Amino acid sequence: MISIHFFSSFRPLVAAVLLITVLNVSGQSVNEKTDPPAYVLVIHGGAGAMERSGMTAEAEAAYRNGLMKALLAGEDVLKNGGTSIDAVIASIKMMEDNPLFNAGKGAVYNENGEIAHDASIMEGKEGRAGAVGATHIIRNPITAAKAVMDDGRHVFLVGTGAEKFAISADVDTVSPAYFFTQNRWDNYEKTRKTHLEREFPLDSKGTVGAVALDLYGNLAAGTSTGGMHYKREGRLGDSPVIGAGTWADNRSCAVSATGHGEFFIRMAVAHDLHARMVYAHQSLQQASNELVMDQLKQRDAGGGLIALDKDGNIAMPFNTSGMFRASVKAGEQPFVAIYAEEESK
Ligand code: ASP
Repeated sequence: MISIHFFSSFRPLVAAVLLITVLNVSGQSVNEKTDPPAYVLVIHGGAGAMERSGMTAEAEAAYRNGLMKALLAGEDVLKNGGTSIDAVIASIKMMEDNPLFNAGKGAVYNENGEIAHDASIMEGKEGRAGAVGATHIIRNPITAAKAVMDDGRHVFLVGTGAEKFAISADVDTVSPAYFFTQNRWDNYEKTRKTHLEREFPLDSKGTVGAVALDLYGNLAAGTSTGGMHYKREGRLGDSPVIGAGTWADNRSCAVSATGHGEFFIRMAVAHDLHARMVYAHQSLQQASNELVMDQLKQRDAGGGLIALDKDGNIAMPFNTSGMFRASVKAGEQPFVAIYAEEESK
């Protein structure tokens, strides 16, 4: 049950919307429209070459189902008064556990035939952040990133140091064998034998991310990945780099990126989106479109991002043929899409 104290701790409008939402959960209809929405959640499961002709109906249904489950897991947190950080974690964990996505269980192999996960998280109220890179025994790397953020002493830990810290913080670990998936291994072997297709986009798509706005008006963002297919040992992409693959600031937006990470690092894409909004007063839509459809595209950098501003506006631009993506706003139906021609909200 939601206590009186709980209600008194945030804005009256939001409290009213929460009440309406709670009534809705119990089966009553909701007609009120709120602006900004009480909560918003947007997730992605990676951008890349995704043609309708290249995907079976079963595979497509499995991806859509995986996105929907991850979206609903995060929405459940927000709906029940949880924080944007917890919603981001709930959605990302669900995708990390799903072998379809290139994160957690379904991560791609590096050129040594090893898994190396990267993840990061940031909250927009105080600007706290945490990240881990090149780990291979942490079941849900996003939870290790959160542990780094909560600890607060550092922002970014990599390799065995990150793993030791995660163990000390009671984060779940597993044997590296847990991450074995036959199709990723087959792709690794194919590249190893032929030396073809060493570069993006082969099999890299599937990085996951989430951005959320909670009932208290706070933004958060997180990203988790196995990185690029057949990457060099020790390579870190943009996903764990705060300001490149992930950013959140209540003054502007929450961002999670996906694509050819080297370009996203060089261009500090996630932070640039924030800076365009704060310093150049661009809208979320204008800033994200310019970055993805102009700046990245001009450099031949395939990818996209999901972003959310403090008013609940959503942007999901991508310059590839597809991006696994989904969103939901309080009181509205969830939206799930893969291909470019599916209209975004
Ligand atoms: N951005 C990720 C990386 O470079 C890959 C991806 O999003 O597909 O590691």
